[in-house]
Amino acid sequence: ELANRMSERGVDVIKLMMKQGQMAKITDVIDADTAQLIAEELGHTVKRVSESDVEEGLFDTSDVDENLSPRPSVVTIMGHVDHGKTSLLDAIRHANVVSGEAGGITQHIGAYQIVAPGGAKVTFIDTPGHAAFTAMRARGAKVTDIVVLVVAADDGVMPQTAEAIAHARAANVPIIVAINKIDKPDAKPERVRSELLQYEVQVESLGGETLEVEVSATKNINLDKLLDLIALQAELLDLKADPTRPAEGTVIEARLDKGRGPVATVLVQRGTLRPGDIIVGGSQWGRVRALLDDQGEVTPEASPSTPVEVLGFSGSPEAGDRVAVVESEARAREITEYRERQKRDKAAARGNLARGSLADMMSQLKTAGRKEIPLVVKGDVQGSVEAILATLEKLNTEEVAARVIHAGVGGITESDVTLAEASGAMVIGFNVRAHKEARALAEQSGLEIRYYNIIYNLVDDVKAVMSGMLSPTL
Ligand code: GDP
Repeated sequence: ELANRMSERGVDVIKLMMKQGQMAKITDVIDADTAQLIAEELGHTVKRVSESDVEEGLFDTSDVDENLSPRPSVVTIMGHVDHGKTSLLDAIRHANVVSGEAGGITQHIGAYQIVAPGGAKVTFIDTPGHAAFTAMRARGAKVTDIVVLVVAADDGVMPQTAEAIAHARAANVPIIVAINKIDKPDAKPERVRSELLQYEVQVESLGGETLEVEVSATKNINLDKLLDLIALQAELLDLKADPTRPAEGTVIEARLDKGRGPVATVLVQRGTLRPGDIIVGGSQWGRVRALLDDQGEVTPEASPSTPVEVLGFSGSPEAGDRVAVVESEARAREITEYRERQKRDKAAARGNLARGSLADMMSQLKTAGRKEIPLVVKGDVQGSVEAILATLEKLNTEEVAARVIHAGVGGITESDVTLAEASGAMVIGFNVRAHKEARALAEQSGLEIRYYNIIYNLVDDVKAVMSGMLSPTL
C-alpha cells in the first residue's frame, strides 16, 4: 500500500527496509515512523494527518442556501403487530400504481416513492417496524421525516404502539396518527384517541396538535386524506436539500444478488447520485454501475429523498450505513480502510467500558457535562412502573434530571435495547427479565441492563449516578 501510494515498486521498499536491518514481508503492517523514514529515503515528501482527518469533508453540512430546493418527505409507518402497517403500505402503493400501469409488477427494494393526489411526492420506507427505524438511528442515520402511527380501532393502543411513540419521540420526528380498521363493526376510534392521551399524544379533535385520520387499509377508506396530512406535515417541516452537491444518503437494505453482485438500496438525502460516481458506504466502496428505481427500471440519476438500488458496491454494506460520493478511488479506499480499522478498535474497546453502563454514564456526566440521564424502564405491573417514574421525577434538580424516554410493562425487548442504544440510555428492569434476543443484542452492543426488585435500590443507583458519587466498580 505504501509503495502504491508512492508509485514505487513493493520490492524496492522491502529492499530498503532490509538495508536498514528490518526484515519485512510485503503484507506486513509497519509503523508511521518507519513509513516516514522510507518515504523520505525514496525522495518523497511526507505529510502526516491524524487518523480522524481521513473522514474530513465527508458529510460536510455546509450547504449553500441558494442551492437548497424542496425535497419529498420520507415517511415510516410504525405500530403494533397486526394493526395494518403492511396493508397500509401496500394499499398506498397500489392506489398509486393502478393509476399508471394496472397490475404492474412492484419491486420491493425497501422503500418506494409515490405521487400524492395533490402532486407532492412522498417516499415510504417499506420495512415496517421500529426495529429497522431505530437500528438506523443507532448508526447515526436519520432518514425519517414523519412517522405514521397505525393504531387498529378494534384493538387500541398496545405495547408496540407505545414503543413506536417512544422511538419517534426519541428521534424527534413528528407523528401522524392513522386509526385503522375503521370499517370493522367493533371499531372504537374514540377509545384510541383517549388511550393515546396517556402517552402524551393529543390528537387535533381532542384539542391537541397531532394530525389524525381514520382509515381502512383493506377498504381503501381515507388513504388520500392520509396523504394530504403527510403533505401538510411536510410543508410545516419545510424540507429542503441541495441537489447540486455530491450525493449523500443512507443504505436502507442490502443483499448479495447472484447475478448482479452486491445490491444496496440507498435513500439519497442530499445531492444527486449518478452512474460512474465513486461511493463509500460503511466499510464498502464501489463505482456506481447502474441505478434502478423502485419499479425496477434503470434510471439516470437519483435526487434527494429518492430511493434507488445501487449496483457496483465491492461488498454488501449494512442497513443504516451512510453513503457518500468521493472524488477518487484512492480516497474511497483510504476511507474504507480507516473504517475497517475503527471497527476493529471499537470491538476491542467494547470489552473495557460498556456503553449504557452506570460507569460510562458517570464519566459522560463528568466530562461532557451532560445534564440528563436517559432511561428505559420496564416493570412487571403498571403500578410499580408508575411508582418508579414518580420517585425518579422527585430526584430531578436544576442541574441534572433522569429522563425516562420509554416506560412500559413486560419483559425487556429487542426494541427496548435498540432504543436505549440509539439514545445512549440505560435499561432498567424491575421484577422483569430481558428476552433472550434482547439479552444477546445488549451483549453484542455492550449495553448494560440493570435488574432490580426493590424500588429503593433502583432509585438509589440512579441518584448515585446523578450526584456523580457512584463508584465505577459498582
Ligand atoms: P402489520 O402486522 O401491522 O403489518 O399488519 P397487517 O397489514 O399484516 O394486517 C394484519 C391483519 O389485519 C391482516 O389480516 C389484514 O388483512 C387486516 N387488516 C389490515 N387493515 C385492515 C383494515 O383496514 N380493515 C380490516 N377489516 N382489516 C384490516
